[in-house]
Amino acid sequence: MNKQVLVTGASRGIGKATAIYLAQNGYEVVLHYNSTKPEGVMEELKNNGKTFRTLQFDIRDREQCKKVLTEDIESFGMYYGIVLNAGIAKDNVFPAMEDNEWDDVLNTNLGGFYNVLRPLVMPMIEKRIKGRIVTISSVSGLCGNRGQVNYSASKAGIIGATKALSLELAKRSITVNCIAPGVIETDMTKDLPFDEVRKLIPMKRFGKAKEVASLVNYLLSEDASYITGQVISVNGGLYL
Ligand code: NAP
Repeated sequence: MNKQVLVTGASRGIGKATAIYLAQNGYEVVLHYNSTKPEGVMEELKNNGKTFRTLQFDIRDREQCKKVLTEDIESFGMYYGIVLNAGIAKDNVFPAMEDNEWDDVLNTNLGGFYNVLRPLVMPMIEKRIKGRIVTISSVSGLCGNRGQVNYSASKAGIIGATKALSLELAKRSITVNCIAPGVIETDMTKDLPFDEVRKLIPMKRFGKAKEVASLVNYLLSEDASYITGQVISVNGGLYL
């Protein structure tokens, strides 16, 4: 059987590109979604004869995450890789920020780290899987960004959590790394003023989701077995 990799938020954007890229590279992908069934990915994988399955849960819902993930690994075995990609932004300048904008972003992006990984880490250890965990932060988590105090806090939190977990799991040969994308062409960035933002990026273009997916694939590979606790940027040279 191929190695199984769970990709959260596989319906769109970076998660979709990652799931397709990993399937093309021989992984059996477990496509997670919340509100939008990943029909596009499913169609593409089916047409290419790839084995996959889907899982639905809201990463904010701790009990639901635990139940769905535990049932899935009991039925199909523990994953080799976990890609924590699902996330949201709700931008607003801090003095105008609403309680729900703070709570939703923190509960989804940082809460999701705990809710998804907590039920999976012990089974990975018990099964002695030399597994791979890849989290997705952001340039905003490294540098901060105006209008994104909530998002920057959640993404900086992911960096801290990734580094700490990497230390706990290193002796088990489980690697935990983080990718910090810059501005990537997805639904999340579709309303940005393209020409203004482009000028800030040294490479003068937005990144493609596939350019993040290829790094996820590398971090899951045997070649990356001694890399852990790292934050690797994919950002065309952008530091805010
Ligand atoms: P996107 O196109 O907006 O897709 C977000 C994904 O997250 C969707 O698949 C969505 O699933 C899922 N999701 C959102 N809330 C969820 C919840 N409560 N439970 C489960 N799934 C949930 O975003 P993207 O641009 O591909 O971003 C992917 C990741 O990269 C995010 O963590 C984002 O913060 C990060 N990132 C993106 C950029 C960028 O420029 N695009 C830059 C830096 C970092 P449903 O559709 O099923 O709801």
